[in-house]
Amino acid sequence: MPRVRAKQLDSELRAIATEEYTFQNWAKTFTCTCEIMFEPSTENQVVKIIQLARKYNKPIKVFGSGHSPSDLACSRGFMINIDNMNGLLRVDKRDSTVTVEAGMSLHKLHAILQEHGLALSNLGSISDQTIAGVISTATHGTGAEFGCLSTMVCDMTLVTANGDLVRCSPHENPDLFAAARCSLGALGVITRVSLQVEPAFRLEAIQKPYRFDNVLAEWDDVVHSAEHVRVWWMPHTNDCVVWRANRTEKPAVLPTSNWLLERGLGVHVYQFMLNAARYRPSFIPSITRFMFDTIHTRPIHVIDDSYKVFMFDCLFPQYVNEWAIPWENSPQALKELDEFINTAQLKVHFPVEIRFVNEDDIWLSPSYKRKTCYIGVIMYRPYGNPVPYKKYWKAYEGIMRKHGGRPHWAKAHGQSAEMLSASYPRLKDFLNVREKVDPEGMFLNDYLKRHILPGKPLQSAAML
Ligand SMILES: Cc1cc2nc3c(=O)[nH]c(=O)nc-3n(C[C@H](O)[C@H](O)[C@H](O)COP(=O)(O)OP(=O)(O)OC[C@H]3O[C@@H](n4cnc5c(N)ncnc54)[C@H](O)[C@@H]3O)c2cc1C
Repeated sequence: MPRVRAKQLDSELRAIATEEYTFQNWAKTFTCTCEIMFEPSTENQVVKIIQLARKYNKPIKVFGSGHSPSDLACSRGFMINIDNMNGLLRVDKRDSTVTVEAGMSLHKLHAILQEHGLALSNLGSISDQTIAGVISTATHGTGAEFGCLSTMVCDMTLVTANGDLVRCSPHENPDLFAAARCSLGALGVITRVSLQVEPAFRLEAIQKPYRFDNVLAEWDDVVHSAEHVRVWWMPHTNDCVVWRANRTEKPAVLPTSNWLLERGLGVHVYQFMLNAARYRPSFIPSITRFMFDTIHTRPIHVIDDSYKVFMFDCLFPQYVNEWAIPWENSPQALKELDEFINTAQLKVHFPVEIRFVNEDDIWLSPSYKRKTCYIGVIMYRPYGNPVPYKKYWKAYEGIMRKHGGRPHWAKAHGQSAEMLSASYPRLKDFLNVREKVDPEGMFLNDYLKRHILPGKPLQSAAML
């Protein structure tokens, strides 16, 4: 494949092309340099880029805000960033739907929805991602009766590998729709998305400490104890924090300044201590105890606009791994994780984050046809420095697999297509749709070849 230079392009594409662009994900754990990165602002430009890629036989990968903690968005061919395609196309207050260009960030979407008295029903921990990015990986929040963000999609438009603009919905190209609501960027460039939202609401959130064994013993009650529930377990201890949030009509109650001070402590002092613990990992359990006692023993009460209350400070770059298992298996899986950490005398960072997601019918969604508990493990990289995590990941993945786990697609994991086809009953259907819309594999990259195309044996993210 001859190298393509920006000077070979027509003036319209040349104006939006950067040669030898180096992409790095948010956590700075994955980097790639592509031949040309394009920043289109219209669907026509996307079509032209795809025609160019066909002419020169180049692979293409679209990326959003680069928040996936893996090489999912990487490519050495062409890359496309559609941040400039971020306009509002239509809003309908009567049926609470909105249509936007797919490069819009969640932050911008919240502001637009608020102006129209609307809001997203659920959210993950941050809003820096693009709409296309979150739906491409089935990004999730928490709430037993709430699906992942992809379940909010009513219809979408993609530019496929032959340059066609294809719209899909439950009634129009339904198979493409079932595949494209979690597509990993493998089916084409998503340019427009319509979402089901709801009238704007406030959330009342209460966060309190609990004994972890008590929470595990009353799992079902805890899962259903509020509309949105998340649990943070502190490894090396029997302590956890339960965050519960419900819709409310009550007036706003904002966090106190003391709370803000504690967040500062939670970021800066924690990072400093974790950096010191790189030389003395045996400090880690004491750091966890100190942080829990100073920050998490006091209940926190907040009432505010929903999209603000859903947000969490994810602190600083980190290695993360997160899998979805049937929620009834999660107490046992967590006990096994605790046992492994103790027996292997591993020193691991807090928290282990536990969230709940309703089942859906999206072929590659980790919550496909089952009520799901996501269990996320984390090892921070204080000041960007490396920390050991591979032994932890290997054992964690073994436990998740044993309990029917499906890895979060955005996060680095070690599952081959053979392993994934056992846990994703519709993987084959997804691959058939992919073959139809992209027979030459224009949208495949190393991640997709490794994980969804048959033939590559992998065992653990620790191997990556
Ligand atoms: C600090 C932090 C917090 C997070 N919190 C959560 C959380 O609470 N819950 C959760 O589930 N996940 C969470 N994530 C993961 C994150 O939501 C996903 O990685 C999401 O996919 C990132 O969106 P992005 O816009 O950065 O997409 P990218 O990471 O840039 O891309 C992700 C995928 O989307 C594809 N894609 C992007 N744009 C398009 C397009 N226009 N057309 C087709 N494909 C496209 C890419 O090709 C790639 O396959 C978090 C990540 C970080 C770093």
